Amino acid sequence: EEWIRRLKRAQFANQKIQIFKPTIDKRYSDMNVVSHDSHSISCTPIKTPSRMLNIAEDVQVVGIDEAQFFDESLVEVCQTLANRGVRVIVAGLDTDYLGKPFGPMPGLLAIAEDVQKVHAICVKCGGLANHSHRLSSSKKLVVLGEKDVYEPLCRQCYNKAVSEE
Ligand code: ZN
Repeated sequence: EEWIRRLKRAQFANQKIQIFKPTIDKRYSDMNVVSHDSHSISCTPIKTPSRMLNIAEDVQVVGIDEAQFFDESLVEVCQTLANRGVRVIVAGLDTDYLGKPFGPMPGLLAIAEDVQKVHAICVKCGGLANHSHRLSSSKKLVVLGEKDVYEPLCRQCYNKAVSEE
């Protein structure tokens, strides 16, 4: 929602925007990013970050969703776009379900001018959740198109849940 809010503000300011997400995300329609409160902005699904370097000259803002699923080259691509004067607004999960830094996210967090961590609410205690606890037994990292596979948990509840598995 925060990511969409920022992009909508740029849209209201009549800035030219282009939005990308990795093709891996099949949960929603192929051409739309849909946020949880059902505001949506159209976007382009791509496989490799370098595709973003082909944007039109007049694009002022690039939005990237589900950034954690892109490979490490996303960091350099974002850097290149930003150096060109493009504002790059990225959304992604900082850690995977094992609590480990997720894909290119650590590199992006390090070079970003501004980082905002948003938290879900822990389903066990109501505290701030910063972990995604996987409810299925599969250890495969990417399970999309399935609902309710993850539950948001705070650090303490996550550690408790994992120790009980
Ligand atoms: Zn908790």
